[in-house]
Amino acid sequence: MKLLVTGGAGFIGSNFVIYMLNKYPNYQIINVDVLTYAGNLENLQVVQDHPNYSFVKADIVDEVVIDKLFQTGVDVVVNFAAESHVDRSIIDPGIFVKTNVQGTQVLLDAAKKYKVKKFVQVSTDEVYGSLGETGLFTEETPLAPNSPYSASKAGGDLLVRAYHETFGLPINITRCSNNYGPYHFPEKLIPLMIANALADKELPVYGDGLNIRDWLYVEDHCSAIDLVVHKGVNGEIYNVGGSNERTNIQIVKTILKELGKPESLIRYVEDRPGHDRRYGIDATKLTTELGWQPKHNFETGIRETIRWYLNNQEWWKRILTGAYQEYYNKQYAGR
Ligand code: NAD
Repeated sequence: MKLLVTGGAGFIGSNFVIYMLNKYPNYQIINVDVLTYAGNLENLQVVQDHPNYSFVKADIVDEVVIDKLFQTGVDVVVNFAAESHVDRSIIDPGIFVKTNVQGTQVLLDAAKKYKVKKFVQVSTDEVYGSLGETGLFTEETPLAPNSPYSASKAGGDLLVRAYHETFGLPINITRCSNNYGPYHFPEKLIPLMIANALADKELPVYGDGLNIRDWLYVEDHCSAIDLVVHKGVNGEIYNVGGSNERTNIQIVKTILKELGKPESLIRYVEDRPGHDRRYGIDATKLTTELGWQPKHNFETGIRETIRWYLNNQEWWKRILTGAYQEYYNKQYAGR
């Protein structure tokens, strides 16, 4: 099997490449990534010399390069490549539309032209919008994205769906809740709070801190995508989530407790515009139809994650000294 993974130098993509090469050492994996601020080849050190792994630095929007890549023969595409940070999409929506919508279309055209056996679009529960206090997102929940990020992901998803309906392309869309685990870029809630707490810096919490996210350990997301690649019924959407709803402030307090740091480090800051209140995933279809079961419960997963960030401080410290620092200062300046 020859697998083209896009965005494989990012958080989930790199975990997925490592997961797949460990589980299927005979599969050939081509990682295509343009290496934006979020792409980091260091994440892939453990597989960089694997005989069946190769890396190509390319933009998924570049149809000439993408076409050439597909000419080499691709069985399955797993599309992780995206601009992925909601806050950045509020500052600069254009690049989100370019990568998440146009980039997806370029990949779909190549997948159609070269008749790939499967195209898996890795999407997010954020395309469904926000929940009230009760209920869960199912695959039938209408799309109602609230941020430029989620709107661009919904746009990509709709194109994927359309290529199935119009051209019969064998596709699946997965919609996952918030991931956490190793190699998570330190602008996202959990690694940001760990890094700040370790440096005794303030922990910025949006609004009242009561927004709810449904957390899933990244390896469990990888195992779900693995199942969809092999067993997903063409044209179907699968929600992925571990039934671990937590408020943001619960997460922050858990991290402080684990690290032995005081809650006085918490600083409430002005809420994110259009901030979705609650996400909650119903993953029944994936568990009953494809037999998926997450392995990690949140309490052990978050401890393992905190330990990983403690043991890999060089990794995130190198990131924090670069371009991200500039963005962080702008984002939280004067709050
Ligand atoms: P990430 O930002 O860590 O990684 C994205 C990767 O895509 C980076 O390596 C980046 O260099 C690459 N990339 C960006 N633009 C590109 C382009 N034009 N061409 C080629 N490569 C490009 O993101 P992540 O958190 O790993 O998320 C991966 C996917 O999973 C995204 O599609 C995201 O929408 C989806 N998702 C993420 C979460 C989450 O909690 N992180 C949850 C559900 C779904």
